[in-house]
Amino acid sequence: MVLPSAGYDVLTAANGREGLILANDLRPDLIIADHRMPELSGLEMLAALRTQGLDIPFILMTAEGSEALAVEALRLGVRDYLIKPFDPDDLLQTLERVLREHWTRQITQNLPARLLDTNVQLEQRLRELDTLFQTSKRITSLLDLEPVLDQIVKSAVLLTGADQGNLMLVDPATGGLYLYASTDAITPRQPVSDRLAQQVVETRKALIFAGDDLLKIKTHHLARDVVYLPLLLQDEVLGVLGVTSYQTSGKIEQHRVQLLGVLADFAAIALDNARLYTATQHERDTLDTILRDAEDIILAVDADNRLIFCNPAASAAFGLGTDTACGQPIGDVVEHPELLDLFDQAGKHKSSRSGEITLDGGSRTLNAHLTVIERVGKVAVMQDITHLKELDRIKSEFVTTVSHDLRSPLTAILAYVELITRSGPLNEQQQEYVRQIHVSVRSITGLISDLLELGKIEAGFDQSRELTRLEPIIQQAIDGQRPQLQKKAIDLRVSVAEHLPPLLGNPLRIRQMVNNLLENAIKYTPEHGKVRVSLEADAEFLVLRVFDTGIGIPKQDQPYIFDKFYRTEQAISDFAGTGLGLSIVKGIVDQHSGRIWVESQVGKGSVFTVMLPSYNHASERSAAR
Ligand code: ADP
Repeated sequence: MVLPSAGYDVLTAANGREGLILANDLRPDLIIADHRMPELSGLEMLAALRTQGLDIPFILMTAEGSEALAVEALRLGVRDYLIKPFDPDDLLQTLERVLREHWTRQITQNLPARLLDTNVQLEQRLRELDTLFQTSKRITSLLDLEPVLDQIVKSAVLLTGADQGNLMLVDPATGGLYLYASTDAITPRQPVSDRLAQQVVETRKALIFAGDDLLKIKTHHLARDVVYLPLLLQDEVLGVLGVTSYQTSGKIEQHRVQLLGVLADFAAIALDNARLYTATQHERDTLDTILRDAEDIILAVDADNRLIFCNPAASAAFGLGTDTACGQPIGDVVEHPELLDLFDQAGKHKSSRSGEITLDGGSRTLNAHLTVIERVGKVAVMQDITHLKELDRIKSEFVTTVSHDLRSPLTAILAYVELITRSGPLNEQQQEYVRQIHVSVRSITGLISDLLELGKIEAGFDQSRELTRLEPIIQQAIDGQRPQLQKKAIDLRVSVAEHLPPLLGNPLRIRQMVNNLLENAIKYTPEHGKVRVSLEADAEFLVLRVFDTGIGIPKQDQPYIFDKFYRTEQAISDFAGTGLGLSIVKGIVDQHSGRIWVESQVGKGSVFTVMLPSYNHASERSAAR
């Protein structure tokens, strides 16, 4: 009743003998029999089945549950027995378990060879994968080439089941091969002459020889299997990975060659990594040495103003502990206010800055240039210019003294020339000579006055400051140039913005500045040219511009025209001058904390721009100090 409703087809026999016949005829999947049956007991029926060689799972039902019966039943191969009374669930569970066990046994009995084989193969594949995995892990974790290549050769032998493995590399200089790693205990890195390996390098193709093929190859006459693979990086052959077997012979399995290919790729990658690493390291070392041994003082900070590099010269100059200072905010390790200010300014304006930095109470001067480098931070490079400063000072002193001493004799010459003209009539030629003397003496006097002026400005004499308006100064300068303007018929226009603030300065010097600029504009502009003067103000500065349509200044000369005595070639050949006017202008602009620059095109004209701090801004700044 229970079994059909659980989905089983059930046949019933009236007694043990009938059951045995049914079992023989119909070969059921399972037999459930009572122990006590007419004609043939359960155990007798089981024994008969076994004698007939029928392995049908047998479940015995019994009310006895004696040990002797159980032992006997098990001996005859009963799969389980049910002790009465039992409930339907017991029956179904027992039946299912017995059937499951029977089928599992049948499967294992029928397919053992194939299963075993597959299992062995799977285990082998797993081992191979594991070896590959371990090798790849070592390659990525090791930077040193030697152990990596050693590992690759060992893995190659392990994976292919070969007896011996070699890794040869191509010497880039000679093109020859040398042995780099081997499972044999031989000194690595020695040249090898291996015809097969050389062939692999030349053809960039793998060589696989098995068994008899090798008999033809003299050098490998002892070997039975040989596989040589190229270590390829793009199209370049870096070396050869080879394995040799002495005992085994026959066909080399394709998948082993593939595994060897993977290892060859690993080796090529490791070689490439090592090559890149060595190159980078070498470059880094070179740069490091250059920076460290440089006489210049070099300091670098990151985007957060933390010190990332300082060379020994910088450590010495600013008293930094090379080991401790790196990584610290620059403000914590450097106490020098001028240097910190330079970093601060560059950070604020996100642009490069230059300046002079004094050390050791003013006895040393550094010329500092700070560059903002994107994604790195800021780098300051400083040169010691103490000796240049000193030279400059001595030169200026000398020039001032000499100029001063020359003045008196020149005045005397002028006076005597004057007396010559008055002391009697001169013929025409004599008058011309006297005129020439006049011109020359005046030009020397002009040069000397300029030199003396420059000396005074550089020495920082006239430091007195007063509120000064630029508008009237410009007007005066123009008035002073009227004769020249008219002589050359130059079109001059002035545009001055309204309500301009004054500046805090020295009016005499400011006039000198405007005069020199205007004088140059007129001097270097041909007749009928144009000169424009404009004055305006932005938030902090008064901006004066002097435009002209003159000869212009070649690009290569522009950085130098504010230097003393510097004149362009055209100026030297076509115009009189001392080359000091713009140096005086620059000196005055610097003294007033301003900036000056020029934009110019040859043959088209020039624009000189001067920016001077206006009084409002200057007063705020001094208040802030
Ligand atoms: P200089 O006495 O020669 O004018 P400056 O110092 O005033 O000396 O000027 C230096 C040089 O700059 C000049 O010799 C000239 O080559 C060039 N220069 C200055 N101003 C102008 C200008 N407005 N146009 C063309 N070149 C100029």
